[in-house]
Parts: sequence; C-alpha cells; structure tokens
Amino acid sequence: MRFYLLILPLLLPFTLLLADAPPGEALQVGFAETDITPKVEKKTVYMAGFGHNRKATGVHDKLKARAVVLAHGKEKIALVAVDLVGLFHPQVESVRKKLPGFTYVLVSSTHNHEGPDTLGLWGPSPFQSGVDAVYLDEVEKQIVSAVQAADAARKPASARIGKANAPELLHDAREPFVKHDELIALVFRDKDEKPIGSIVQWNCHPETLGDKNTQISGDFVGYAVEALRTKYRCPVVYLTGTVGGLMTSLHVEIKNAAGEALKDGTFEKTARYGELLAETAERALKAAKPLKLTPLQAKKRIVYLPLDNKLFLLARQLGVLKREAFRWTGDPYKAEAIREIQGDKPLCTRSEVAWLRLGDLDIAAIPGEIYPELVLDKVQTPADPGADFPDAAVEPAIYKQLRGPHRMIIGLANDEIGYIVPKRQWDEKAPFCYGRKKAQYGEVNSLGPNTAPLLCRAFQDLVRGNRSP
Ligand SMILES: [Zn+2]
Repeated sequence: MRFYLLILPLLLPFTLLLADAPPGEALQVGFAETDITPKVEKKTVYMAGFGHNRKATGVHDKLKARAVVLAHGKEKIALVAVDLVGLFHPQVESVRKKLPGFTYVLVSSTHNHEGPDTLGLWGPSPFQSGVDAVYLDEVEKQIVSAVQAADAARKPASARIGKANAPELLHDAREPFVKHDELIALVFRDKDEKPIGSIVQWNCHPETLGDKNTQISGDFVGYAVEALRTKYRCPVVYLTGTVGGLMTSLHVEIKNAAGEALKDGTFEKTARYGELLAETAERALKAAKPLKLTPLQAKKRIVYLPLDNKLFLLARQLGVLKREAFRWTGDPYKAEAIREIQGDKPLCTRSEVAWLRLGDLDIAAIPGEIYPELVLDKVQTPADPGADFPDAAVEPAIYKQLRGPHRMIIGLANDEIGYIVPKRQWDEKAPFCYGRKKAQYGEVNSLGPNTAPLLCRAFQDLVRGNRSP
C-alpha cells in the first residue's frame, strides 16, 4: 500500500502526458511568411521610430510577417514576428480571435524604425496620429494568413539550438552600460535532415538607416533573414528580444571589405550589419545541440500597469494614442475599463506577460522594450545617488526565473508598452545620474517608474504559479 501511494503521484502526470501526446507522436513544425509592405504611392505613409512627419517616398525592401507553428499532441503554438515598430495588445487579441484552435498565438514586432507608424506617435505633428487604420486591418489579415500557411506547412521535425555572443554588434546608448549580447538560433529539420526553417533571436533596435531615410525597409533584419535563407535554403523567423537601455545598431563600427567605416543611415552599413548578424547566427548553428521541444506549454497573465507618462496621457486625450484605458486601483491583476476620463484619477493600461515552456526551452514573452539589466539581473547596485528612486528594490530578473536548460526572450511580445526601466535607474529629476547635466533618454517613452517592478513581479508570479499580486 505504501508502495502504491508513493508511485501513484509519480505515474499520474506521466499518464496524463501520454494521453495528450500519444507515444511516438513527433513535434511538427511549419513556417510561412506574408507581405505587409504599405502602399506608399496611394496614401501618405508616416514612418515610425524617430521624429514626426517623416513621409515614405518609396519601398527599398519588403516588410514581412514571418510565422512558425509548433504542434505536439493537442497543443499548437504560433510565433509571429512583424517588421513593424510595434503593435498594441488589442490588435494581437483581434488576431487571436481569427485563429481558433491554437493553444497560444504570440505576435511580436521587430521594432523596425524604417516602416510605417502603427502606434500613432509619429504622425504629421504631435497632435495627429500617423496610423492608417485600413493598413492595420491588412496587417492583421496578413498575420492570420501567415499563421494559417505555417500551420498547413507543418511536418515532423527535429530541432537544434545554438548560442553565440556578439557584443561588437551592439552599441549601448545609456548608462549603466549593460549589453544583452547573446544571439539564440534554432534550426528545424525534417526526417531527411532537410532544413524546414530557422528561428533567430537577437537584441537590437533595427534603426541603422536612421531618421533621414524615407525608403520603407526592414532595416538589418531583412538583410540578416535573406542571408540566412540563402545559406540554409529555408524560411527564417527573426525575433527581437531585449532592446531597452538602449541596445542599438547606431554608432556600431562596421567596416566594408576595404576596411572603410560605413556610415549610419546608409544601406551599405545596414546590409553589412545584417550579413554580420547572419554570420553570428551561422556560428551559433554550427555549435548547435539537439533540443527537446516537447511538451508544449504556454502560460499568460494579464497585467495592468499605471499610466504615469504625461505625454502618453496627453496623446491619449488628443486621440493620437488610441487605446482603451482602465482605472488604476493598485492591483496589477484587476482593473475596470472606463468610458470617460474623470478628473485626475489614475489610469492604467492592460497588457500581458507570457511564459512558454517548450520542452527544454523556456521563453519569456515581455510586452515592450525591457532593459538588459532586468533580464540579466544586472540592475545597478548600489544605485547612483542621482537616481530618482535610489532605494527602490531590485526587480526579480527575468532570466533568473527560467530554470530550463535553454532560455530565450521575446520583446515587444503581444504589445508595445515602451521602455521598461529599472526603478532605481529612473532619472528624470535633478541631480542627474553619473554627474550628467541633463537626464538620459528613456523615461519619456516609458509608462512610468512602476512599470518594471510590476511587470517583473508579474512574470515571477506567473512562473511560480502565484495567484495574488
Ligand atoms: Zn525603441
């Protein structure tokens, strides 16, 4: 009897697992992509990421929605990356409604700064949105088509995973200087060892073409994907990870074959950066090891984050930022939608964190531009005395929560809430950190100083299975 009591709890999860996925059932994987390039000749297309009123004058290279679908037993997960500056959570939820039958659909933006405004912040003036609603609808349709095509292309697959570091491909534009310089690459092969597709995850703003370019482009992402597609003869999904704090391709020294430094804002530098990134991915794949990706599990949590940023509040009032607001009550897991703004009662925004546990691979899905310090557990300690909240607690780091043999982060996942800044590195008020005469760039594009503590805590709660905040 004692024996049975001991063995029963051990057998139970095992039998449940078998019921979900019959023995011998293999992981199935499919890839597909669709075109989401805006039509610049018919309407004015406002380009996102830098200043206002940057009108597109042409298309240099096409923007894509790239999808991979993984299926095992009854579980089916889609990961999609779009060559856009960001998409808001309600749009992702709208995409999900059109894709029944999936355990989880994740839509992430590469954070492309050379594509159309999809958030509203880069219109003709600060008082006008740059979003074309008709185009956004088309993007939704194309994301759905990409996922359906990837689903239809599924076949039994084996996976390998590799990593490579490339600090030389990142410039950190904000102190403290902490880079997330690890590239993750996965390759999937069919039973004949033919590549089905590849996933590459890297941590950098695609903005090499800068703020003067008026040609629609996927920036270095497009070049890296094309180089890898040519090399491995398979589709590639590029996922953006940790891009806050501030990981950029601008000011990264890149030389041509003749040893001459290539300038920011040129297609030469952007192309070369993409090739070097593809070479880094090849390096990762050469050293890749077999990866067990089953069973597939996805857990998500809705999180409400206070909207403290006065510019965002103003943009909301002006109709530049179109997004449902909620009443902030102090509980990150509960809030009521509001129809009308009443006085100065605090508002919050509804977002989502997710944890995908795919066999031996843990994936953190974070809804914005997180600082590397918060991912790698490198928040400045002690805080700079110039910081606005030097005594704020260090947030629970994202990667510290992930205990599997392999881990990866997807940034701008299912939302773009802006910068996620460690609270003790928040610095808007004088005196400024590091003896600076003015504040560093970042806070202006963040919901507020409590975003990081609430979000990191929500991710920790999600992984630990905690119910209450
Ligand atoms: Zn950014």
